Amino acid sequence: MLQEAIDYTIQLSKKIIGLRESPTFAVVKAASNRKKAGLPVIAFSVGQPAEPTPEYVREQLQAMLSDKDAWAKMSVYTPVDGLPELKDAISKKFADENGLEYTDKQILVTAGGKQAIANAFAATLNNDDEVLMSEPSWVSYPDIVKFHGGIPVGMRTNDEFKITPNTLKLTLSLHQNAKWLVLNSPSNPTSAVYSKEELAGLAQVILEENAQRKKDKRPLLMVMSDDIYEHMVYDEKLVNKPGDPAAISHNIIMAEPKMKPYTLIVNGVAKAFGMTGYRIGYAAGPEMLIKKMENYQGMETSGASAISQMASAIALAPENKKARDTHFATQRAAYITRRNLVEKLINEAPNTTMSFNPMAGAFYAMIDVTALADKVGGTKILAEKMINEKGVALVAGDDFYIESDKQNKKYLRLSYATSEKKLEEGIKLMQELEREILPDGQRKVAERG
Ligand code: PLP
Repeated sequence: MLQEAIDYTIQLSKKIIGLRESPTFAVVKAASNRKKAGLPVIAFSVGQPAEPTPEYVREQLQAMLSDKDAWAKMSVYTPVDGLPELKDAISKKFADENGLEYTDKQILVTAGGKQAIANAFAATLNNDDEVLMSEPSWVSYPDIVKFHGGIPVGMRTNDEFKITPNTLKLTLSLHQNAKWLVLNSPSNPTSAVYSKEELAGLAQVILEENAQRKKDKRPLLMVMSDDIYEHMVYDEKLVNKPGDPAAISHNIIMAEPKMKPYTLIVNGVAKAFGMTGYRIGYAAGPEMLIKKMENYQGMETSGASAISQMASAIALAPENKKARDTHFATQRAAYITRRNLVEKLINEAPNTTMSFNPMAGAFYAMIDVTALADKVGGTKILAEKMINEKGVALVAGDDFYIESDKQNKKYLRLSYATSEKKLEEGIKLMQELEREILPDGQRKVAERG
């Protein structure tokens, strides 16, 4: 019997049509397709910490799994807001590392930091509400904002990829009802880290803005402080407890405590502990907002995965502080070595147009590839050439801008959360492509230009 042709045309929502595939995951897919085809790949694309889950977490989780009660606990729904032992560990982490007090009702456990961000925008954005973010910034912020009806507004950053109080003031004068400002320090994709003083300067602008908004009875400006890379900070001047392995970068509340009612902190175990696959994040902020985010999560996904929450509770447990601190210290040292290696390999190469200005945190290097990108027609084409012709997976800088044509310099984002050997091999291949795109003479002209 002939099969009937069935029209499966599906009427998609405008929201989903406007949503792009995550550019970072798209590069990961391209790299894995190459691998499947038996071709070599060097992945500088993902935000995946180089080291796996720390040993103390693996060992204690394994021991827990031999316990019948643990299995019983894993077999049932968890509370929507998170397992009590994990929430307790998160609350103690805030007190110990950040010096911030959060009660049980001010904390929500989520399926990754991404869900915390999506919950917050789902809970607060009406159509056309504006969300301010620096440019370049992480790929997901603008898309999640748009999905929930909001409008992302990019702010130009200075040479260190940071916004200044003046930029913020100017932006607020043009966007008087903006609902959120997203701050992500250390940053993905730039690795820039704000100092306590810089954050205090921004806080001052926000406090003045909100004082005026209260008078005008306008909605307040909230800050989303995405602290997911807080443990990856490599300049003692930028940490809250110099010399302490548990030292972290400052966030806006640590810099100015008056910001607490206006700030939602987003964090998770993914980057700090090499636990991206567990999918556990958390948010801390005003009780009313956390409750609304919980209500949304209760309808959409319920509580996060039980086994992953148990693993995260082990990672963050106060009694594991010593093992955790050792992990942080080792991790920090490894990233400093890798960042310095990238700096040397990129900047000390003879006759190159590429350059790298090392930043103080995270594990990303924004490689300035302006001359190359201009020659081939943009960073997306350059990134495609890197993967297709050299097998090096990098993310196009254009993907981190809302309007990419507005940037002066052009970048490829290189994640140095990988081995030193891979960094050496991959950067050599990038330089090989550079020589093919810009032969010797042209490279000198491009350098001067
Ligand atoms: N925020 C930033 C800046 C990130 O880079 C990422 C992940 O890449 C996240 C949040 C989300 O992390 P998670 O894996 O916990 O969802």
